[in-house]
Amino acid sequence: MSQLIVLVTGSRLYDDAWTIKRVLDDVAEDAVAEEVDELVIRHGACYPKRDPKTGRIPARSADWLTHLWIARFGPDHPIRIIEQERPAQWEAPCRAACKSRTHKERPVDHRRPRGTTTYCPKAGVYRNKDMVLEDPRPNLGVAFLRDNSSGTSNCITTMREFGIHVEEIPYELSDSPGPT
Ligand SMILES: [Zn+2]
Repeated sequence: MSQLIVLVTGSRLYDDAWTIKRVLDDVAEDAVAEEVDELVIRHGACYPKRDPKTGRIPARSADWLTHLWIARFGPDHPIRIIEQERPAQWEAPCRAACKSRTHKERPVDHRRPRGTTTYCPKAGVYRNKDMVLEDPRPNLGVAFLRDNSSGTSNCITTMREFGIHVEEIPYELSDSPGPT
């Protein structure tokens, strides 16, 4: 059985759902043309918080819009589309690299308060590397860019470090904040 593994990354402010649809449609079309059995879409599941007033999850974040595309178009697609959500484990213990002496930019004890507990600011970086190294490794990366998101840049750099081709999709809508 053959698979095409695509790692999607992007800004949590990316809200151009039409561009995400166009790009993912193209990816899925290529998967059909390459006669793969399954298209696997792996992403960081960084979803917006539900709006307490409307009870809805706002339509932004590359991960969320990718999730919605899979839910909406996956079931009827000619090939099987599989979603792999890989959220960062912010409250997990620090990893060895957090304590390394080469980790100069932060003190060894760098956990930060979050409510009643603390979180590791490097959790997103660790998750990105895990997504890249997870077996089977991605065949392709797609990055939806907006506002120089550092998490997105880190994911792109990590993919390239491991020889994965990344397509960068620029943000083309007006950057002025619209109504939410
Ligand atoms: Zn840490």
